[in-house]
Amino acid sequence: MKHIETTRLEAYIEDSLSDHERWEIEDHLDVCDLCFEAYMTSIETWTLEPSLAMDFTDQTFDQIIKKQVMPGKEAKRSAVQKQKRTLVHYGLAAGLTMILMISGVFEQVLHVFDEDSFKERPSISKNIVSETDRLLQKVNEDMRSDADE
Ligand SMILES: [Zn+2]
Repeated sequence: MKHIETTRLEAYIEDSLSDHERWEIEDHLDVCDLCFEAYMTSIETWTLEPSLAMDFTDQTFDQIIKKQVMPGKEAKRSAVQKQKRTLVHYGLAAGLTMILMISGVFEQVLHVFDEDSFKERPSISKNIVSETDRLLQKVNEDMRSDADE
């Protein structure tokens, strides 16, 4: 009995044989363990390789998605968070400026009655401006440190 050649076995797996050739092989596989083993090995390699390729493609796509889409989302999210944080900073600065303006004004108003200190002290508006400047500078520093994160 002639064993099945590898090329014919592959052709059989590919289903590119005539009915007669296929029957011949099937009959031989029924009786020959050696060829049946070779046939099984061929099937394994045959089915494994495309699945490996598929798996590789999936992994490649996964990596592309992780590397490009996901960090994109992350970056977008953190940018939004940074934007929100910046808004909070501006809000805090505005609120603090208001408080400083009010408290500063009251403090200055109280000192107005003391004529000596009134002369020595810088004007109310000048004081507010410098306080606001200081605050805005602090906000800018905070924002810069955020950007460095
Ligand atoms: Zn055989």
